[in-house]
Amino acid sequence: EAKKHEGNTFVHYNKTLATEMNRIFEVKTALQQADFDRDFTLHYQPVVDVKTDQVVGAEALLRFENDTLGRVSPGEFIPIAEDYGLILPIGEWVLKQACSTMREVVEMTEGMFKMAVNVSIQQLENSHFPLVLKTILEETAFPKDHLILEVTEETSVSHSARVKETINQIEALGVGVSIDDFGTGYSSLEKLHKLKVNQLKIDQSFIRDLDQTKAIVHAILAMGKSLGLSVVAEGVETKEQRDFLKATTCDYVQGYYFSRPIPFKDFQAYVIQKQSSNK
Ligand code: C2E
Ligand code: MG
Ligand code: MG
Ligand code: MG
Repeated sequence: EAKKHEGNTFVHYNKTLATEMNRIFEVKTALQQADFDRDFTLHYQPVVDVKTDQVVGAEALLRFENDTLGRVSPGEFIPIAEDYGLILPIGEWVLKQACSTMREVVEMTEGMFKMAVNVSIQQLENSHFPLVLKTILEETAFPKDHLILEVTEETSVSHSARVKETINQIEALGVGVSIDDFGTGYSSLEKLHKLKVNQLKIDQSFIRDLDQTKAIVHAILAMGKSLGLSVVAEGVETKEQRDFLKATTCDYVQGYYFSRPIPFKDFQAYVIQKQSSNK
């Protein structure tokens, strides 16, 4: 009886694993064969000043879609791209695309607008990355003090001297660095201080469960402020969450309450509409 049960479990496990591996293989192959300009798109999610309601920036979020697989979420394809050595060319495409597209918006919004782009650990571990970044900024004529690179807390704090060196070089270029998904990793005040980043983004899990996490959110805000960092709250979906954050020292908010990530044309229309309604 026990043996039979074990046997079934084994078969079941095997089948699931096979399905999972097959899917990874399909996504990997699709990424390897991708025509970047056709299969990748950037969507942009507004970042809003919680005190004034003005749009002060955007986060670029990568989308992938092809004929055989349809849409694949970044939560699925980014880790696969990282595991199979595909994230460097993809990351470069993202930066180029984001900088050349968003330059108009930076000019239109007269000075305060910041564009955030996510970067992976492999990009920061690559010693050529600062040069790649500098070249893209020059080629696209994107004003570098309007760019922020988002690195996850995990990536930034628990990693090598190489990563820290790259972060320093990015900052030396005049580009900002933000710690994404903050609160889910293991940073100490001391580590954060040494990294000399500009911004913290409170992970959306804390905003989703505010009833249980208000004390943590207050602590993160206090920590950010004591280090002189700006703080963004991610995943704001309701007016209650927005109102709570407005009453704190939180600077910026981002989430479905304001807008989902949207194509560039829609983002532009959103900014124009907000500018006129704030006058
Ligand atoms: P992230 O950088 O933390 O981005 C925030 C994610 O939360 C996005 O998911 C966004 O669509 C989603 N989001 C925004 N507001 C809300 C909200 O109010 N409620 C909820 N439930 N979700 C919200 P998305 O676009 O699926 O991206 C997932 C992750 O994939 C990103 O997390 C980022 O780590 C990674 N990613 C996306 N684009 C890139 C890229 O160009 N390069 C790299 N390296 N990673 C990327
Ligand atoms: Mg991000
Ligand atoms: Mg995040
Ligand atoms: Mg994330």
